Order: sequence, then C-alpha cells, then structure tokens
Amino acid sequence: MSKIRKSKNLNLLTLKTTYLGIGTNKGDREKNISNALKLLSHIKGIKLLKVSKMFKNPPQEGIKSGYFLNGAIKLLTSLTPLELLKTCKSIERKLGRKIGYRGKKRSRVIDLDILFYGNEVIDTKELTIPHLMIEKRNFVLIPLMDINEELIHPVLKKSVGELYSDYLAPTSIKNCARAV
Ligand code: ADP
Ligand code: MG
Repeated sequence: MSKIRKSKNLNLLTLKTTYLGIGTNKGDREKNISNALKLLSHIKGIKLLKVSKMFKNPPQEGIKSGYFLNGAIKLLTSLTPLELLKTCKSIERKLGRKIGYRGKKRSRVIDLDILFYGNEVIDTKELTIPHLMIEKRNFVLIPLMDINEELIHPVLKKSVGELYSDYLAPTSIKNCARAV
C-alpha cells in the first residue's frame, strides 16, 4: 500500500480491486510479461497485488501464429475504468504493439485486457466489463483460478471455478448422438 498511500489526490475509498488479463505470442514472451508488469507497477494509482502463473496456450480464435503465454493480474487501483484502459493501451504501445490492427488477428507483443473492475458492469463503445467471453476462454479462466477460484463474475453470478467446470462440461443435448 505504501506507494498508493503516499500519492496525492488519492481517495482510499475509491480504490477498486481489478483483474487484468495479460497475453503475448511474439518474441521473448517471458520478457514481454515482466516488462509489462514493471511498467504497470510504476503507474501512480496502481498497486499490484498478485500475478498468476503464466500458462502456455496454442493460438486460439483464428490467430495464425506462435504459442501464447497467458496470465492474470490482481491489482488495486484509484484509476477509473477508462483511465485504466488508457494505461493498458499505453503500456501495449510502449512495448511495441502497433495500433490499428484490430480484427486482423495478428500476433501481439502484449495484450492487456480489463477482465473485472470491482463488481462494475460497463457496456460502452470503448469498454465492456466484465470482459467479453471470460466464461468461454480457458486461457482466461485458468489464470484467474490460479489467483482466486472463488472470484465471482458479477453478471453470471458464478465463481471462476464454477465457470471453468461449466466450460469443461459436455455442452448440453445438442452435442449428443440423436436417438432414432
Ligand atoms: P483484443 O483484446 O480483442 O485482442 P485489442 O486489445 O486490440 O483487441 O482491443 C480492442 C479494443 O477493445 C480496445 O481498443 C478497447 O477499446 C476495447 N475493449 C472493450 N472492452 C475492453 C476491456 N474490458 N479491456 C480492454 N479493452 C477493451
Ligand atoms: Mg486487448
């Protein structure tokens, strides 16, 4: 807490517990992760609380490229959701991520996404919180579980551990062999 307490204009009552997803599939992945963590830890108004283990994953969702390292970060922040988004984007840029390629599914040096921001639910042009499809992405659920299996998704009202069990469960009748 020392850094946060010392900083000016900081109202402790407004601190939010926030979870970020972090991913990289280009260059020295471990270095990219540690660089991003270092930059995050230097931001006024951010206090890193926990970092998950990093998990190696094959590229998903149509991205044609090398393997990913994915993790999750728990932090305390006095930044608003939009300020936090801008901070994440600025760190992505500093680490060499090029802008303007959304949707092209290219490799990324670093991707920082806001997964949860307290219990807030936000749906605007710039920001969707909780992040989209957390419950359908094992590469997001597994790192979150590594930090806190009991963490509740404020919209789905289930813990990330439960969401992961649902993710693994055979998906309902539509996938069953049809009786004739
Ligand atoms: P992706 O993370 O889907 O690979 P980008 O990192 O390029 O794609 O993000 C594209 C846009 O997604 C950002 O410019 C941002 O405005 C938007 N976005 C919406 N919700 C979030 C969120 N919770 N965290 C991060 N970005 C978000
Ligand atoms: Mg992103």
